[in-house]
Amino acid sequence: MYKKIIIFVIALVLAFSVGFLAIYYALPVEKTNVNVTDLEPSSPVQDTSTQIALKEPETATISDTLSLEQAYREAEDSEAAQFTEPELRAFREKKKVVYLTFDDGPSSNITPKLLDTLKKYNVKGTFFLVGYCVKAQPRIVKRIYDEGHAIGNHSYTHLFNKVYRSWGTLYEEVLKTNQAIATAIPGYDCKLFRAPGGSKPFLRRSYKDSLQAAGFKIYDWNCMNGDAVRRPPSPDRLYRNVVRSAGKQKRVIVLMHDSQNHHNTLKSLPRVIQYFKDMNYEFLTISEDTKELFLQ
Ligand SMILES: [Zn+2]
Repeated sequence: MYKKIIIFVIALVLAFSVGFLAIYYALPVEKTNVNVTDLEPSSPVQDTSTQIALKEPETATISDTLSLEQAYREAEDSEAAQFTEPELRAFREKKKVVYLTFDDGPSSNITPKLLDTLKKYNVKGTFFLVGYCVKAQPRIVKRIYDEGHAIGNHSYTHLFNKVYRSWGTLYEEVLKTNQAIATAIPGYDCKLFRAPGGSKPFLRRSYKDSLQAAGFKIYDWNCMNGDAVRRPPSPDRLYRNVVRSAGKQKRVIVLMHDSQNHHNTLKSLPRVIQYFKDMNYEFLTISEDTKELFLQ
């Protein structure tokens, strides 16, 4: 009786072993297939966005809400990495980065106070200046530069029907603004551009390509305080707009304005700065080595 049971148990163990070995040897067949695909140099493992990018290069160029880690990982893998040293360092240290940007200035009443606030909090920003304001306030432009902030071109008139009428009018606006900036800051060659109203829908693809071919880097935003309205909301509301709009993004470009009716933006700035400090963001300025960002 015991003999039969022992034989039955041995048979059972053998059957399991044979089954296990069969499965074990069957697996590598599939595994090999996976490996062959994964080892394709142009097909990074588990990186769906890159795979999409490879299929649709045009979409990939404008879709730029990659997570910071993902974007940096790609940049570090790429010969043509488009990140500044501070950005790469921030990534290595697992920091989040924020770029405070101010459009439509300089203004004589808001911009100097805004610079005072940035100085008080030891934070640098990026100013996308409008040419005719630069011409009116060259000393403020020089102060922006001297205090370590970055400067970008935001057209000369900011009049949509003029700026976007043709490539000729757009480029004339851009050059005229750069000349005004170079007069305020002797020899300064501005290579950053932000399209009035944003690149979408205003900046045609051909205009964008031509500006880039002329050496400009173009930056929209992925966070805004909502102050670009005739009657800007309260400072508290502006602050809450920034928090909501920044969300959990790890690379945040905040759009704000410093033209003459933006008192509430000025008032909200300390809280906005404190928020990003509390959330452990590093404050950076945009440079021509900063990866471009376009509205989707
Ligand atoms: Zn603007």
